[in-house]
Amino acid sequence: MRLDYAPAPESRDVVAIRPSYGLFINGEFTEGKGQPFTTVNPATEEPLAEVACAADDDVDRAVRAAREAYERVWGRMPGSERAKYLFRIARLIQERARELAVLETLDNGKPIRESRDVDLPLVAAHFFYHAGWADKLAYAGLGPDPRPLGVAAQVIPWNFPLLMLAWKVAPALACGNTVVLKPAETTPLTALLFAEICRQAELPPGVVNIVTGAGDTGAALVAHPGVDKVAFTGSTEVGRQIARQVAGTGKRLTLELGGKAANIVFEDAPIDQAVEGVVNGIFFNQGHVCCAGSRLLVQESIEEEFLEALRRRVGTLRIGDPLDKNTDIGAINSAQQLAKITELAASGEAEGATRWSPACTLPEKGYWFPPTIFTGVAQSHRIAREEIFGPVLSVLTFRTPEEAVAKANNTPYGLSAGIWTEKGSRILWMAERLRAGVVWANTYNRFDPTAPFGGYKESGYGREGGRHGLEAYLDVT
Ligand code: NAD
Repeated sequence: MRLDYAPAPESRDVVAIRPSYGLFINGEFTEGKGQPFTTVNPATEEPLAEVACAADDDVDRAVRAAREAYERVWGRMPGSERAKYLFRIARLIQERARELAVLETLDNGKPIRESRDVDLPLVAAHFFYHAGWADKLAYAGLGPDPRPLGVAAQVIPWNFPLLMLAWKVAPALACGNTVVLKPAETTPLTALLFAEICRQAELPPGVVNIVTGAGDTGAALVAHPGVDKVAFTGSTEVGRQIARQVAGTGKRLTLELGGKAANIVFEDAPIDQAVEGVVNGIFFNQGHVCCAGSRLLVQESIEEEFLEALRRRVGTLRIGDPLDKNTDIGAINSAQQLAKITELAASGEAEGATRWSPACTLPEKGYWFPPTIFTGVAQSHRIAREEIFGPVLSVLTFRTPEEAVAKANNTPYGLSAGIWTEKGSRILWMAERLRAGVVWANTYNRFDPTAPFGGYKESGYGREGGRHGLEAYLDVT
């Protein structure tokens, strides 16, 4: 763990954080009837702001505002006009990117280098891409007369707060729907800054509404009879509850849930490149990534050589102040998530796997977990089966491509997988057999708004991004 660098922190003064935030309903910030809650900086445990909590009445107001905006304005507006608003929002996101990135890092704990260089460019790209679709929906190959669904209820998690918002809001708006979005309770701030951007873009009131609060607020939103479509990203457990809640209501549903991806390294892979890919796969965003390559499957013949190179590389990762531009690994998002990671890592040791972390000093305040690698992992171990959602890698080995496929698919999840090999024919052979919505070859965690993203099995259903993502927000019958 290197500490011999001069920190160059991004200033938190870039963004003006207000002491308290309201709900965003019908183009206005308003109070909520629930008990306000405090959002904290997970790197310091310092409170950032007090945030309104939406009670059932507030959710009802938001859904009504969205309905009104849909009926009167947005659902009737020509696609070419909607596109202008989306382009305007995309440009404002670019203009205010620094502010948004700093706020995201403060509220979430992720390194500023990631929010600045990954999250924000992808957020803007998502709005630009969907702005381009708004007047071309008839050419999306979904039928000649695709129509919006109406009001979309969107519930998102805390790991990529603004990017998950973009994945939900941009296609919904491009297709002519209005939205009520609920961000996660530990990361509400960038969604509220996005609300300000909607005002700045002069988006008609009610087209985007943001209701903050915890699971109860999300449940009230999903249950509201005025909602036509539910889009959820989060845990498989809550996804199941929502699927039960929505069953039989006629509401359309898409679910983006958890994962336990295999990152598969063959003996012919370029080792340095594969090491980078494995490090990126599990330590990017502290491993708070649904498609994290949390199981390394390495071919037995190169196990020792590869693990040595991997440990060497992990030893150079810098953990600490998320606002420091040199930081590689930031804070864990919440005490609750830290407790979950700690418990699962302890189970790995208890079940007989070998635990390794580089020597490192963690900051005293805040929520931190060192990059961790488990070797000697059996498929039956909890750390090989359950989503940890933290910087913890479980290493398994294989001898043949058939065995790699069998082990990779031996999970209830099916979101993503990675393959590292020089052999093109093997990539194609593997990709056909891996039961995962996304398969990366000789790269990992690469996202693009033109490419559909989504899972198989308990990772959910529906796609976000690309032409396929539009289907979730259109009626084509
Ligand atoms: P979570 O399921 O606990 O919460 C997600 C959101 O749902 C939050 O906004 C929460 O307040 C809300 N919620 C909680 N209970 C609810 C209920 N009963 N009804 C409606 N809403 C409710 O998940 P999390 O801990 O915030 O996020 C981590 C999970 O998200 C991981 O499992 C991860 O894999 C998954 N995830 C998936 C994707 C994907 O694209 N597949 C992307 C990011 C995260």
